[in-house]
Amino acid sequence: MRARIQLNVPLTTLMGLSQRPGELGGFGPIVTEVARRLTLNQLTNPDARYTVGVTHPITGQLLHLHPLPQRFLRGLQAELVHALNQRCIWPTCRRPAPTCDLDHNTPHAGGGPTTPTNTAPLCPHHHSVKTESAWTLHQTTPGHYTLTDPHGRHHHTHPPDLTDPAPPQPQKNPKPPPAPPPPAPRPATPADDDPPPF
Ligand SMILES: [Zn+2]
Repeated sequence: MRARIQLNVPLTTLMGLSQRPGELGGFGPIVTEVARRLTLNQLTNPDARYTVGVTHPITGQLLHLHPLPQRFLRGLQAELVHALNQRCIWPTCRRPAPTCDLDHNTPHAGGGPTTPTNTAPLCPHHHSVKTESAWTLHQTTPGHYTLTDPHGRHHHTHPPDLTDPAPPQPQKNPKPPPAPPPPAPRPATPADDDPPPF
């Protein structure tokens, strides 16, 4: 099996609404126009050897993978789970997702489905920590996990950004401009400017 390269492109770049560059997984940024052309080629060329990850323009996290994987691992689109999380989701663990186990967050025996929303890549070490002691893992939204340790402490993790997150926006409504200074008092009209009373 040949490993596929993943081209990640922000949604707004594909829609022509921004010029934010893409990222070729493992290689680095790729200019906007080339990213758009490669995406178009990927959509029309069945032999394309790369997948396109569409990312959230603000967070840079994966929204969608194209084409959706056709290969299933015990009924699961494992490639999608790998692409979203990239690594073992245990805080600070760096083990690449394709070399991890896929953990059922709610155990299969307990009715947990084999779906991306109920699975997480865990390296064999952390997988056994989770299954052999009183840790629980809950996926709140795709790629966002809450890991609860045996003392009830929560650890939150989120998926990596695959394209650069948007820089903070300048404030739309900064402080109102300072009030204009009050009008200068009218200069006193010298009495002798008055029209003469006669
Ligand atoms: Zn791990």
